[in-house]
Formats: sequence, C-alpha cells, structure tokens
Amino acid sequence: MKKIREVLGFINNHGLYPDVKIISSPSLPEVIINGKKVLSFCSNNYLGLAASEKLINGAIKTAKEYGVGSGGSRLLSGNLEIFQKLEQKLAEFKHTESAITFTAGYMANVGTIQAVMNPIEVKPLSFVLRTKNVVLSDELNHASIIDGCRLSKVRVVVYKHCDMEDLEKKLKKYRNWRKLIVTDGIFSMDGDITPLPDIVRLAKKYNALVMIDDAHATGILGKRGSGTAEYFGLDNEVDIKMGTLSKALGASGGYVAGSKELVDYLRVSARTYIFATAMSPIIAGAVLAAIQEAQENNSLRDRLWRNTERLREGFKKLGYNTLNSQTPIIPVLIGDEEKAIKFAHMLFEKGFFAPCVRWPAVEKNKARIRFTVMSLHNDAQIDNLLENFYKVSKLLNII
Ligand code: PMP
Repeated sequence: MKKIREVLGFINNHGLYPDVKIISSPSLPEVIINGKKVLSFCSNNYLGLAASEKLINGAIKTAKEYGVGSGGSRLLSGNLEIFQKLEQKLAEFKHTESAITFTAGYMANVGTIQAVMNPIEVKPLSFVLRTKNVVLSDELNHASIIDGCRLSKVRVVVYKHCDMEDLEKKLKKYRNWRKLIVTDGIFSMDGDITPLPDIVRLAKKYNALVMIDDAHATGILGKRGSGTAEYFGLDNEVDIKMGTLSKALGASGGYVAGSKELVDYLRVSARTYIFATAMSPIIAGAVLAAIQEAQENNSLRDRLWRNTERLREGFKKLGYNTLNSQTPIIPVLIGDEEKAIKFAHMLFEKGFFAPCVRWPAVEKNKARIRFTVMSLHNDAQIDNLLENFYKVSKLLNII
C-alpha cells in the first residue's frame, strides 16, 4: 500500500484527481448535478436515444421476457435467443455476414486483437515455421486498442496520427510479417476521421488485415449510420468492424462484425467473450430498438450534423482552435493543463458541463475542453454555450 499511497499523494498534490460529477438525471441536453440544472455538452449519446421511449420500451419488454441477468457466459448458460437476434441485426446494419457481441466495447477490442494476432498453434511445433505478427496502430487509437495490442504479445508498431507515409514506411519494413492495421474510425479525443481509403489501399498493397474501431462512428457516419466503411463506400474492404453499443446506440456493450469465419473464430478464441457473463438481455432489447432508429430515422442524424456544424463554426468564428475535428466530437484547444482545468470549472459554474481532457489522456500542453454534440440540443443552447465560452476565455486571457 505504500506505493499506492505515494502515487495517490502525487495525483492529489498536483490537482490531477478527476472531479467526477454525480448526475441524477438521464443523459439529455439538460442534466441535474448537485441539484442544479446544467447544459451537458459531453455525452456520447449522440442521437439522443439513451433515454428515449423506444429504447426504454425495448428494455422493459425484454426484461419481462428474459429477466435482468443473462445467467452465465455465452458458452455456458447465457446464450439467450435475444443475443442471436441482436447479432443478426448488427450484421445487417454493418453489411457483414456475421457479428458477435461483447459486454463492453473495451472487451471487444482487447479480446479481438489478442485472438486475431496471437492464435494458438495447431500444428506440431517441430513442423511450424512461426510467422511473425505485427500490429500497426495509429498513435491516437483508444486505450482498449492499446491494451489489446499489449495482451496479444506481438510486435506493436505505432504510426503517426493519420500519416499514410509513415504507415507505408512501416508496412514496407514488415513486408514478410503477418500484419494488422488498426485504427479508430472517429478519433475520440480529436474528433477527426481516419483516412480509410488510403489505409485500405496500403493494406491491399502490403497484404495486411484492416480493423476499424467504430465506437464513435456507429450510428453517426454513413447514409444509414453504419459507420466509417459505409461513409467511404468501403464496406467490403474492412476485415474487422468493431464498435460499441454504448454511444449513439444509447446502451452499453461492444461488437465485432465481419465474415462468418472471423466471428466463428472469435466465439472460441476471444477470452473476453468466453470468460465473461453475457450482457444483460435488457441491453440487447434496447439496442435492437436503437439500431432500428439509427437506420431509419435520418432526421436524428441530420439534426446532429446541423448542431455539430453550428457549434464548430461558432468556435472557429470566435477564433478558437478546434484541431481537425470533423464530427460531433469538438475539442477546443487550451494548451496549459492548469488553465484548462480552471476553464472547465468556470464553465461549469456558468451552467455548462464539459470536461477538460489533459495529460495523460492527451499529450502534455495539449489540454482541451472536449465538447460533444447531441441531436437533441437546440440552437439557443448551442449559442448560449458559445457566448459563455467566450466570456470565460476573456476572464482567463485566452483569446
Ligand atoms: N473505442 C473507442 C474509440 C472508445 O472511445 C471507447 C469508449 N470510450 C471504447 C472503444 C470502449 O467502449 P466501451 O465504452 O463500450 O467499453
């Protein structure tokens, strides 16, 4: 415990312990924190489905049919019919042969990367000329990808963020290795979109598998919200389409969609699937309703993009740096950690809830306030945020 005390002391002394707010209302534009109504600009509930009638009804109906807990892992007693329905729906949504669900998106990444890149040896060892495996991973990929890479125990080569020259240089170096290129679809801290067409082109040239993490792109990108591959018209070119059920789809859990072969394989090799209790059936019931909405209710997506444009352009007009954001994730760069912490605090005092993201989540001196937009925000709420953001930056001499 001495070491733990030392680390905790360091975190506290440097004011780094996160000030996590307790929210006592659903994930909507207005939330109640400490009895006070504030405007939330930090939920991943992009399409506003998390607290919608459709999802709540889907959840209640399923709770009555199946109860609350699944009762076990999928390989034992937890293989409920509703999970099969959900996986079929996900496969259709993602334009793939098959899909597999996990209890969390985090577990989908960790279990999949490990299983795909470190398969068990089935031939007698004396006959095996071991192929070497390498994962090529964007430097801004999510922590769950990083952890999946680590657990796979193979060589991990990080390429510069969205830098295709760097990726190609690295692919060339590992020409004779078995390769996986893995990237976020929408990057969770910068809000930019991966250059998938170039990644696919390079993967073909150097014979690499492609895995995309659509945690933030599911429900958002593409004509029917299927994700990054649909957005670029590259549905048949991505081998492993991972995503979460926890953001635009308004619930929790993760999935991987791909060929039947891939999914069959993951069911017997992804440790986070095999050794964890299956998700609650309630979640599956809610997500079935969410996918239907995400596919069919284009007005939700249209409003989300309109709101995104209004907020991002508003920041830009006022002279702020929104990095390369192209999506409902809009960071505003502050730089200095202490200033950014103060900024988020002052904004909260004015009734706006958005976190300061800083080292170690992002590079030192790249601290930012990270805003996310929902389809449910209205123009007045967005304009109100812009006005107050400006006032706070004046007070802190930021602009
Ligand atoms: N990938 C990315 C890019 C994410 O942003 C997240 C969630 N923050 C995850 C994976 C993990 O998903 P989940 O929260 O469903 O475990």
